[in-house]
Amino acid sequence: MTLNLSNRPILEVQNLKMYFPVSTGNIFKRQTGEIKAVDDVSFFIREGETLGLVGESGSGKTTIGKCILQLNQSTAGEIMFEGQRLVGMKQNELKQIRKKLQVIFQDPYGSLNPRMTCGDTIGEPLKVHKITKTKKEYQEKIASLLDIVGLSPYMANRYPHEFSGGQRQRIGIARALAVSPSLVICDEPVSALDVSIQAQIINLLESLQKTLKLTYLFIGHDLSVIRHISDRIAVMYLGHIVEIADKGELYTNPLHPYTKALLSAVPIPDPLKEKERSRIIIEGELPSPLNPPSGCVFHTRCPIAESACSTHIPQLQEVSPNHWVSCFLTPGYK
Ligand code: SF4
Repeated sequence: MTLNLSNRPILEVQNLKMYFPVSTGNIFKRQTGEIKAVDDVSFFIREGETLGLVGESGSGKTTIGKCILQLNQSTAGEIMFEGQRLVGMKQNELKQIRKKLQVIFQDPYGSLNPRMTCGDTIGEPLKVHKITKTKKEYQEKIASLLDIVGLSPYMANRYPHEFSGGQRQRIGIARALAVSPSLVICDEPVSALDVSIQAQIINLLESLQKTLKLTYLFIGHDLSVIRHISDRIAVMYLGHIVEIADKGELYTNPLHPYTKALLSAVPIPDPLKEKERSRIIIEGELPSPLNPPSGCVFHTRCPIAESACSTHIPQLQEVSPNHWVSCFLTPGYK
């Protein structure tokens, strides 16, 4: 995928691979294979936008997030953030970068220390990065962070178990924002919440994006949520991005057979339209990333696969402005 942009992206991922070795043997372990969790993935995110990364569980989307955060040491590829190369960066440089690159996790309870008060949790990155100088400044900063995520400053002395799931996720957001990041990786931030609470958190993330000029990589599996928050959407299947397009374009003109099948399963509020449309069922199970299919990784489940699909790998190609797809049978694909 070659970038052709007038405005420079905040994040560029080029040919990223993340293979996890698989070993056997109890005493003398030897590597017998590798799990190809992410296989030759390229994309970019422009400043101020939200890129939705959607796919089934096991498609590799969370692994991409961890590679960007340098929690996984990628097997190959480049990750450029604000013009700086993250792969191979020294720990002291990485510490500075982490101020600008934050994450909001899926499980707001599991990601909070049960023995730390909400104020201490939010204040920890302030101390690590020496952002506040006096105790008064520290307390004021915590109060203002609680305020911008819709919590009351008096809640600073409470512990995680005293909050609801939605409130705990607000604490996670406040903690991520404490260091004034520019890019936030939202890793399924509403998946563990009740549907009624999901909308509140999504609205909060949207309003924070506007006021604080944030850029989001929003990882999820729920196409309704992804559609609501994203400007552009990348669809993942078995470690590969199979399609990227602007939100409107992807939903009205999906090109990859996998995207078409995913979208055909999203409920439509209009009961008449819902009754009329036909659902595309993808047969079979998601293959193992330990032994992925040859050629196009989707060929074992693709309803329109041809013989060449099992021997040739379709690269992601721009078939119309800003619409990228990896399928030989797409009109305009060369
Ligand atoms: Fe289906 Fe072949 Fe297109 Fe892959 S390349 S999505 S198998 S038609």
